[in-house]
Amino acid sequence: MNRARLRLAAVTAWSGPPMPIVPLRPSPFPLLPEPHDESARQSALEGYELLDSVPEAAYDDLVRLAATLCDASAAAIALVDNGRIWYKARHGLGETERLRSQSICSQLIADAEPDRLMVIADTAEDPRFAGLGLKLDGRPLRFYAGAPLMSPDGYALGTLCVLDHRPRELRAAQRDGVAVIARQVQHLFELRRYAIEQRRLLSEREAFALQLESAQADLQRRHELLQHSARHDALTGLLNRSALSQLLGSEDAMEPLRNAAYTLLLVDVDHFKQVNDRYGHLLGDRALRAVGDAVAASIREGDVAVRFGGEEFLVVLPGTHLATASEVGERIRQRLARASLPFALTVSIGIAGGDPARDRPEQVFDRADRALYRAKAQGRDRLAVDEG
Ligand code: GH3
Ligand code: MG
Ligand code: MG
Repeated sequence: MNRARLRLAAVTAWSGPPMPIVPLRPSPFPLLPEPHDESARQSALEGYELLDSVPEAAYDDLVRLAATLCDASAAAIALVDNGRIWYKARHGLGETERLRSQSICSQLIADAEPDRLMVIADTAEDPRFAGLGLKLDGRPLRFYAGAPLMSPDGYALGTLCVLDHRPRELRAAQRDGVAVIARQVQHLFELRRYAIEQRRLLSEREAFALQLESAQADLQRRHELLQHSARHDALTGLLNRSALSQLLGSEDAMEPLRNAAYTLLLVDVDHFKQVNDRYGHLLGDRALRAVGDAVAASIREGDVAVRFGGEEFLVVLPGTHLATASEVGERIRQRLARASLPFALTVSIGIAGGDPARDRPEQVFDRADRALYRAKAQGRDRLAVDEG
């Protein structure tokens, strides 16, 4: 839709008081035809990341070569951007850019064909440009020769142009030379795009590698979490029964119980059924956590604490005799007595010692269980030691 029709549409849609219609100011420059599919051409140009880039010797050399070859005042690599011509390289030309409507290049790219050199022998004699008052560094621009710079998919990105203050012609060899230099410029453009693409692929690959790394780390974390939760009791954080079975089946884990004396403690909460009945299961669970904490805080590294049953805990103390085990049992009782619970909670503990030369672990466990039974029978809230 052109600007006049847009304005008309806006006026038609207006429902308030009548809007004054301001006549459009005529453009000071005649409108030059725009190349077909301008937005695709523009984005093809932007893909090269040439616009407003820093000067590069390779391009500077080529425009100097073009000016020398044609014995011309100026030469440039002109890129046709939105509304402006921007020079990637220039020789004998002061300005860094000019209005697109004030350029011959825009005319050239409108109907550009690869390798077709457009020559304006005298701009003053050409009806398309005579009225524009084109200047070259302050003086009238009279001569123009331009070879389009094309992308491989057929978009004219700009021109390699040769400019002069006097009307003139180019010899056949000069025309060929300009076309050859234009092809070299295109070649440089393609190398540049290739490098951009490589950089993009590389950064994509790096981003992908980072993503992969973080996904792997995440997976590893989940795996460890899963392994941890498979081996630990969710309520107390102590090892669970399945972890105990694994330990019993592991040569390495059993090693300390094969070489030195050890002790087992069986800890059972007293009257726990009544706790549940009286205070409910939630407080019952809190009580069990308090027992778990008391056990965990009373043992050393290398000792093993397992939530063995609902309210029963097994503690294995490698390299420990009955006297030390009793101290550990006593610590558990005292810690639990200090636990912040809305009721008093006690445990009974059965203790038995194992001698690897004489006992199998299950025999030691049976003796600890019997000792526990005795502690219960003797009134609970106490230790009972199996004397062997
Ligand atoms: P005793 O002093 O003779 O050991 O008596 P007790 O009541 O502690 O023993 P009993 O074996 O009769 O009851 C154990 C209770 O522990 C029964 C069961 O409901 C409760 N229990 C087991 N696991 C859990 C648990 O995970 N949460 C709660 N709240 N209660 C549990
Ligand atoms: Mg029990
Ligand atoms: Mg109990």
